[in-house]
Amino acid sequence: MASYYNNETIIYLNGEFVKASEAKMDFYSQSLHYGYSVFEGIRSYRTVNDETKIFKAVEHFDRLKNSALAVNMPYHWTTDELIAATYEVLKKNNLGDAYIRPVVYAPANMSFVKNEQSFIVIEAWEMQPFLGDKLLRIMTSSFERPNPKGFKIEAKAAGHYVNSILASQEAKANGFDEALLKDMNGFVAEGPGANLFFEKDGKLVTPALGNILPGITRATVFEICKDLNIEVEEKFFTVDELKSADSAFFCGTAAEVIGFESLDDYKFPLEWSKTNSRRIQLAYKDLVVGNYKPLSTQREEAQSALSM
Ligand code: PMP
Repeated sequence: MASYYNNETIIYLNGEFVKASEAKMDFYSQSLHYGYSVFEGIRSYRTVNDETKIFKAVEHFDRLKNSALAVNMPYHWTTDELIAATYEVLKKNNLGDAYIRPVVYAPANMSFVKNEQSFIVIEAWEMQPFLGDKLLRIMTSSFERPNPKGFKIEAKAAGHYVNSILASQEAKANGFDEALLKDMNGFVAEGPGANLFFEKDGKLVTPALGNILPGITRATVFEICKDLNIEVEEKFFTVDELKSADSAFFCGTAAEVIGFESLDDYKFPLEWSKTNSRRIQLAYKDLVVGNYKPLSTQREEAQSALSM
């Protein structure tokens, strides 16, 4: 089990930097009792310039705000102030490659009513690969993703993650690395903590929005595909269609881009190293450490070298 903090660890708690081991939260909060809180999962990377850089910081803190508002939690912070606080947490804990977890939670009151106030904590710890680096053996889950008519599915709300925990534990108990969940209509949705893409004849396909968390990494994969001239389609599709794909991968802040070996008893036939998915994985690895040169820039550089 990862060690998240020790006696020296500093967190940001409601405007102050305090020791994690001495921090307190309220046991009479509906965040604890009912999973009524919102959070983000963010990464920082030590870049090729030897700086610590939070990847897609604005996107993550904007989503934190939108998640809070979606579930009626007051939110009075600016993205800029929280990004500054997060850099300070990283500095105080001497972290470069880290996972960052802001959580917005409620004060004491368990009566379902709207809170007049919200609290925030920002924690960070050293990050190891989340799903590992080897190709994943995935199981189609018996659990469906939460119904968007019952939850604000686009919000990263803590309570949704009981569903993720159940699915992930079921897959692991059955000897798989991770689960893949369908939506309420029986179409492929996403993993417990990651979005999915599959590749067929060089083209990528990913579940359309509506029943999934709109991932920031998913959006980044779209950017990379645009640059690499790889076609991407968003649509609803079945597990059967996924089982005719050449390759597939999960993507998420923690998972990054990680390929599949198999889904249930279907083995993805194209060697990972020969897929466009692998090219995207490599581009993503470069992008997060500031080492990605868009193809257009590379072409311009090649042209100007030729004309010199
Ligand atoms: N789906 C779910 C259910 C998740 O928890 C995550 C992780 N936040 C993702 C997708 C991927 O989102 P992102 O790329 O923004 O990390």
